[in-house]
Amino acid sequence: MPRPIEALIHTDALAHNIARARRAAPDAKVWAVVKANAYGHGIERAYAGLQGADGFALLDFAEAERIRALGWRGPILMLEGCFDARDLETCSRLNLWHTVHREEQIDWLAAHKTQWPHQVFLKLNSGMNRLGFPPAAYRAAWLRLSGLTQVDGITLMTHFADADGERGVHEALAAFEAATRDLPGERSLCNSAATLRFAGESAEVRGDWIRPGIMSYGSSPDFPVHDIAHWDLQPTMTLQAELIGIQALNAGSTVGYGSAFTADRPMRIGVVACGYADGYPRLAPTGTPVLVDGIRTRLVGRVSMDMVTVDLTPVPQARIGSLATLWGRGPNGSVLSIDEVAHAAGTVGYELMCALALRVPTQVV
Ligand code: PLP
Repeated sequence: MPRPIEALIHTDALAHNIARARRAAPDAKVWAVVKANAYGHGIERAYAGLQGADGFALLDFAEAERIRALGWRGPILMLEGCFDARDLETCSRLNLWHTVHREEQIDWLAAHKTQWPHQVFLKLNSGMNRLGFPPAAYRAAWLRLSGLTQVDGITLMTHFADADGERGVHEALAAFEAATRDLPGERSLCNSAATLRFAGESAEVRGDWIRPGIMSYGSSPDFPVHDIAHWDLQPTMTLQAELIGIQALNAGSTVGYGSAFTADRPMRIGVVACGYADGYPRLAPTGTPVLVDGIRTRLVGRVSMDMVTVDLTPVPQARIGSLATLWGRGPNGSVLSIDEVAHAAGTVGYELMCALALRVPTQVV
C-alpha cells in the first residue's frame, strides 16, 4: 500500500480563478502564469483548468516545450526572455514570445537569422530594480527594436514591485506612463495583486494583457489583509494525509523532537503521515491550523520529516485513518487556505505550493 498521503489538483477551482481574473479586467487578455511547474501544481495537471486563459507565461524553455507538447498552439511568453543567444532558435522553433529586459538581448536579436519575426515584450524597470530597462533608456531600446526586421511586434511591459503592499502601483504606473508616452503597441502591467486591487481603477493599469499567477492557484496576494474568500478565489491544491497513530498524553507529557510541546492537561494527539519531506513547512509552529475530519484543530510540537502531530481535542471521534487536511479542501465543504498555513510558518503560499514534494502522489480532480 502507498503511504496514506496525497495531493489533489482541482480543475474547477483553477477555471474559477482564471474566470475571476478575467472579471477583474474584462477588456484585457489573460496570461496564465505557469512558471515553476505551474507554481508546484504540475503543468500537465493544471493545463485543463487553465484553458480559459489566452496564453501561458513562464520562464523555463523546457516548460514551454511541455506546453507545446500538450497541444497548445496559442501564445507562450517567456517572462525572463532569452538567457543566451541560442535561445532565440528555441523561440523560433516553438513560436515563443519573449521579454527583452537588457541591451544584450537586442544584440542577439539583431544578429539572429530568424524563421519568422519575433513578438517581444519590452520590460521597463518601474521601481522593482530587478529586471528591465531604466526609464531613461526605455525609448532608445524601443527604437532599436522597432528598427529590426527580426521583430514583428513590441508589447510595453512592466512588473510592479509593491502591488500587494502599502505603496501600491501608482508611482510605478506614473513611471510607466512617462516612459511609454506616445509609443504604440499593447501594454502589460498587472500581476495578481494589481489585478485584484487596482485593475478596476483605469484602463491604463489594466492594459491589454494581465499576468495573474498566485491568484490562479487560490492564494490571496495580500494575505492577511484579505483572504481568498474576500477575493472570491478557490483553493486549487489540497494536501491531505491520514492519521497513522494516536497517543493519549498525561498533563506534563511532551510531543515530538525536542519535546517542543508540553500537554497542560490529558489530551489525545493524532500523528499525521505528512512531514517536511512532503513539502509541509518545517517551521510551522504549534498552533498552525490543520483540519481533521473537516474540523479545525492545531499542529502541536515540531514538524518532522514524515509526520506532524495534531491536537485531537476538538475532534473526539478521530481514529486511525481519519483524514487530516494540511491545506486546501477538506470534507463537508471545509476549507483551509494555504495562506493561513504559510502565514503561521512565516512564509507565503507561493513557497508552500512550489515546494510540494515529488514523493506525494498527486491526482487531478
Ligand atoms: N509577471 C511577472 C513578470 C512575474 O515575474 C510574475 C511572478 O513573479 C507574475 C507576473 C505573476 O505574479 P503573481 O504570482 O504575484 O500574480
